[in-house]
Amino acid sequence: MDHGHEIDERNKNNENNCPKAFLHRKRITWTEFKSKKNLKQYIKNKDEQNLFDRLIKAMGNLTGLLTVKKNNISAPTDRIPGTCFLQGIRRRKTTEKGLKVQYAIFTFTTVYHLFAENVNDRYVVNKNWKTLDPKVVLFYTPNKSKDSRQMKITEMLEADKDYYVKNDWCAITCECYDVKLIADLENDLAEYQSLQQNLYLMSKEPAYQDIKLVIIVGHPHGGEKQVSIGRHFPDLKETLKDVRSGQRWCRYYYDAPTCPGNSGSPVFIFGQPVTGFGYWFGHPHNHAKEASSIKKIMEKCKTKPKKDPECIGMTSIGVEMIV
Ligand SMILES: [Zn+2]
Repeated sequence: MDHGHEIDERNKNNENNCPKAFLHRKRITWTEFKSKKNLKQYIKNKDEQNLFDRLIKAMGNLTGLLTVKKNNISAPTDRIPGTCFLQGIRRRKTTEKGLKVQYAIFTFTTVYHLFAENVNDRYVVNKNWKTLDPKVVLFYTPNKSKDSRQMKITEMLEADKDYYVKNDWCAITCECYDVKLIADLENDLAEYQSLQQNLYLMSKEPAYQDIKLVIIVGHPHGGEKQVSIGRHFPDLKETLKDVRSGQRWCRYYYDAPTCPGNSGSPVFIFGQPVTGFGYWFGHPHNHAKEASSIKKIMEKCKTKPKKDPECIGMTSIGVEMIV
């Protein structure tokens, strides 16, 4: 798959120059992730490790690499990597040349700024975003392009425009005509939603009050899928605004390491009150800040890393249920 190679070539260079390179080794590649080994610091019980194992597997299958062409005349083939997460599947039927065809519309959540340009230090969504040739790839594995499933983006849902909060959330839709893939992903989505609910109930039990686990799956630097595990800091959590009935915008801070390319990643926060798509719009990994402050943070992290939560995992802003 040609666009994969474009990212692969840039990936090495970007990784070497990354201000958060000292955190790279803390992430686990998708193929090397083992719940027993990688979660034991947080979750001791084997059965519970298995629940998280299933959650992370489903989460990973639903996580895609999203790339867009960089609006840069000097390097017209350069692509910017990000991550997207499959949150909804709607089955459809159509007729083509007299034959009935089944397909599905996939809704992925991701971040706006991938489709935006920096204009006077504000991100402005490019109205002609389709000219950026956005592509979603599921099961992206470098050098194994036969496993990858590329999809074309058909629509962008600008769901967050009404809110006063400077947010960075958007949803995109793709069409999928592979009936087996549709069924497999429906299973993953059902599994993810039911485990999310079970784990939320578990988090309310006294034995789990001190577990501040955060799991992020994404494509840092546009490379292989990686799992990032860390803690969130409840004392730093901000509630920005109550919205709709029983929901609020909030911002979480965590130390699970992330890099460029992780934007739009699903963020699982143990103990966060969430439900399925339609109620929960999720916390895709993002910074929800002005372009200038992201630049400042990245500069700061070069010289003053580790202790500052902004320099470690950064933040997510999104919606959760009020309980
Ligand atoms: Zn990095």
